[in-house]
Amino acid sequence: MEVILGQTKLVLMQGDITVQDTEAIVNAANEGLRGGGGVDGAIHRAGGPAIAEECRRIREERGGCPTGQAVLTSGGWLKARYVIHAVGPIWSGGNKGEDNLLASAYRNSLELAREHGIKSLSFPSLSTGAYRFPVDRAARIAMRTVVEYLEQHPDTFTEIRFILFSEPILKAYEEALNELLATK
Ligand code: ADP
Repeated sequence: MEVILGQTKLVLMQGDITVQDTEAIVNAANEGLRGGGGVDGAIHRAGGPAIAEECRRIREERGGCPTGQAVLTSGGWLKARYVIHAVGPIWSGGNKGEDNLLASAYRNSLELAREHGIKSLSFPSLSTGAYRFPVDRAARIAMRTVVEYLEQHPDTFTEIRFILFSEPILKAYEEALNELLATK
């Protein structure tokens, strides 16, 4: 699915984020920036040791990255020049501020990209794997946050891609975006 919002093409597609040719890709990182399973492991494997080395430096300088925030490293061997490491919340029932923290993780990633003059960016479905955030709810938050950001910054990005790892996750994001656009 593709829609144009301002100057930005917003794309939802099934795929593997590690092979995307956008200027930056977003990683579903953890607070310690230590790599892990899921999309994080895949990005570190594909991008090589330079990414972990920069993560280590950030950990030493700033103690990592708090939930809801994001930090930037180079992309190592990836096609993408940069990786934005965003830390989404661990789901723990929905009353621990998870919704706001997830929205912050998306918003801060977009903000960091904008500050670095990055024009195209790919996101995975943050928090919906090991962190167990319910996919439908996460999809609505992701779509709302990104569409709002693009409304506020209509000339900043050429393309924002969501790379969803499976058909059901793609469907959840498409439904969330369709629902949101129907209210506009
Ligand atoms: P989190 O810890 O934030 O939940 P995970 O990596 O466990 O992060 O899962 C986030 C999402 O990323 C899940 O939907 C998972 O299926 C997906 N995913 C895993 N590998 C990839 C990949 N190579 N490209 C895109 N998405 C991926």
